[in-house]
Amino acid sequence: MIPRQPARTGRQDKVRVALAPSPSPANPKRSPKARDVRPGGGKLAAKRPAKSGKSTAAGKGYNPIAPERVAEILKRLNDLYPDATCALTHASAWELLVATILSAQSTDVNVNRVTPELFRKYPTVEAFAALTPEQLEPDVRSTGFFRNKSKSVVGAAKKIVADFGGQVPDDIDKLLTLPGVARKTANVVLGTWFRKAVGVVVDTHVHRISRRLELTKENDPKKIEQDLMKILPRDRWILFSHQIIWHGRKLCYARKPKCVDCALENICHAGDKTWSTVDIHESAQ
Ligand code: SF4
Repeated sequence: MIPRQPARTGRQDKVRVALAPSPSPANPKRSPKARDVRPGGGKLAAKRPAKSGKSTAAGKGYNPIAPERVAEILKRLNDLYPDATCALTHASAWELLVATILSAQSTDVNVNRVTPELFRKYPTVEAFAALTPEQLEPDVRSTGFFRNKSKSVVGAAKKIVADFGGQVPDDIDKLLTLPGVARKTANVVLGTWFRKAVGVVVDTHVHRISRRLELTKENDPKKIEQDLMKILPRDRWILFSHQIIWHGRKLCYARKPKCVDCALENICHAGDKTWSTVDIHESAQ
């Protein structure tokens, strides 16, 4: 018997025919039990990822960034998370900038617990600029790394007041001059507040899932962003990140992703899948 190879396009639609009904965006929550039952009533075991480490290598000619495959991934993400947006509570570019700085090594839920009171206490960028980092520390302590974050927020406020007339700039080069602001934070503010697709936000979820989906082989966020900018249509740069971040929160966890419930399952060959109907590519993780 000749082992099945991944399609050249990266699509695995034959699996849909060979197995019980495959995950669909319309029904992404099918249980493993439902998937394993043949139409005739007999049980059909889904292929489990190899545990020996001898997982199947990517087939010759397989192109994980083939336009058809990328389009299919985007379509399924659209079906799953049509309204995905930034989960950080904010009412202005400045508030979004502060919330994004505070979200480093923290969760959005944690940041959202802190920011309402923070922005009530210091309602303007000028109010933050008048502080010392030490004065801000108690207010942001619970988000972790509070000394560095206080320095960044107060430093950014002072620079925005001094150099940009109190307005958060909508230009990436200017944003990158602010203390504590790297490409990820700048892209969040530009994409979410100013609706400017200048780059792709690469946070921990986008980093992990882009590798699992073989959209990049890189590990450095800047290189991952470059790869994604090359293969994604520009009008999807902003939404793609939001959708992938939601996917990472809901299903594609860092540890033990819920592949059995994932609508991308039959086009995902991630080496650390927990359940699979397709070949595993060990390098995809
Ligand atoms: S690793 Fe699992 S949960 Fe993540 S995209 Fe692939 S199939 Fe979905």
